[in-house]
Amino acid sequence: MALLFLAGVAGSAGSAEIPADLLLTRGRVFTAEVSAPWGEAVAVRGERIVYVGTTTGALAFRGPRTEVVELAGRLVVPGFNDAHIHLMSGALSLERVDLIEDDALPAVQSRIRAFAAQHATAPWVLGRGWLYGSFPGGLPSREQLDAVVPDRPAYMECYDGHTGWANTKALALAGVTKDTKDPSNGVIVRDARTGEPTGVLKENATALVESRIPAPAGEARYALLLRALSLLGSQGITSVQDAGLTPADLDSDVALLERARAEGRLTVRLRVSVQMAPGDVEAPIRAALRWGARHDDPLLRFGAVKGYVDGVVEARTAAMLEPYPDGTTGLPNWTPEALTAAVSSADRAGLQVWLHAIGDRGVRMALDAHEAALRANGRADRRGRIEHIETISPADYPRFRALGVIASMQPLHANPDQNSETVWAPNAGPDRASRGFSWGNLERAGARLVFGSDWPVVTSDVRRGLYCAVTRKTREGRPRDGWLPEQAVSLESALRHYTIDAAFASFEEAQKGSLAPGKLADLAVLSEDLFQGPPEVILRAKVALTVVGGRVVYRSAP
Ligand SMILES: [Zn+2]
Repeated sequence: MALLFLAGVAGSAGSAEIPADLLLTRGRVFTAEVSAPWGEAVAVRGERIVYVGTTTGALAFRGPRTEVVELAGRLVVPGFNDAHIHLMSGALSLERVDLIEDDALPAVQSRIRAFAAQHATAPWVLGRGWLYGSFPGGLPSREQLDAVVPDRPAYMECYDGHTGWANTKALALAGVTKDTKDPSNGVIVRDARTGEPTGVLKENATALVESRIPAPAGEARYALLLRALSLLGSQGITSVQDAGLTPADLDSDVALLERARAEGRLTVRLRVSVQMAPGDVEAPIRAALRWGARHDDPLLRFGAVKGYVDGVVEARTAAMLEPYPDGTTGLPNWTPEALTAAVSSADRAGLQVWLHAIGDRGVRMALDAHEAALRANGRADRRGRIEHIETISPADYPRFRALGVIASMQPLHANPDQNSETVWAPNAGPDRASRGFSWGNLERAGARLVFGSDWPVVTSDVRRGLYCAVTRKTREGRPRDGWLPEQAVSLESALRHYTIDAAFASFEEAQKGSLAPGKLADLAVLSEDLFQGPPEVILRAKVALTVVGGRVVYRSAP
């Protein structure tokens, strides 16, 4: 035994003399490694992979206590890494009525009515996920919400998080009347005739009502976080990158994460960015550095700040180079000078910078700011990021590669549903829409893409994102040939964007993101081989097993 022990200590990670804890055999293993993308078996010891290759090779690691999972041809992939998620908002959304799958107003209303009845004692009726296309004219009204929740304040967040829909009681409670002035970077939508608020609040105006909503705290908030983590695990997600805790929530939410970690319940690896805003840059930078000094390991790390350059196409708040059909051009939240100063300052502090940019002008401002930081500070491996990139000027495609800026995109945002057809596309206009969500063009221009969900903006279910990424179709199969099919990506490429490329985006590609000896054993087993058969197999596949650091965190019922 002593000899065996010594041999194990001295041996390489691939030595078979110490048995593995977990073997996955007789499957199809997509490794996401460029040099050896396929295998049929994986051996895991402790938190790391010790072998990827043939079943025979893996069985050499079998010991008396090794768990062996016979895959019978099922697919193993590196654990999914959702590169853009809002973990706490997602957690909070789990106790709100989810409207994302409804597209007709009566369906939206009846779902809210049923939810209100089930939560008869809740002081507020809260929901999220409504689509602009569900409402005649593209925006809801307080009367439509009063009709189903007359007795209590009710507030429904739009799926994109940029527009709110309040009922009359909620507006009254928040003191929003026709005399209330619009906040900066925000609009209280008003009736053209009477000047009364219609119930729709855009951008910063949403805070007028949102600040009145009692947020779950303490145990209730912790319980929702745990539910969110187990949901993600059940979807094969082993890492997420949080697109911005707000400075207001940062300390209390990190305390919840620390508690989950101490209790062994932080079952998804997490990298957190801290939100910055015009006039509020230095404090978020300090907060990101302070938390980063405390947590910088594969389970929890910081090291990034995020700013919003603009809004969204649907509300015409995304900043555009050319006007929208109504003559407006959208609101950048920053002046170019302030944005450049903020990005350079964070970059100088050694932080990665994420910039939300959706309009083609917003994207250009974000690229300009990254370029200015690169010139000013000369940090070569800074991996600046731009989030969303729904529209883009052709001149800007090559700049991603030239500047080493990561294109962080969310396939399901391009879901060609009724909402995108009736609201997004008309707002973007035909020229910009012809380059909508252009993953294909960006790939061809040599950009590094990373994929995520933006949950709770859309579902965190990676299968939905993968399907849209490879087909550019809704899950009902519309349109038949896909929307701008030249912008679709291959399945292999989409999987890389959700795994190894996403790991690169958090500087962790040496540790995780592909299946190779020495890497963290983060992986998912899917019930179907996504590479066999039509793309619809992706939607049918179920997650059978999720492993994080060698530990099984999810196993489907047999
Ligand atoms: Zn987001």
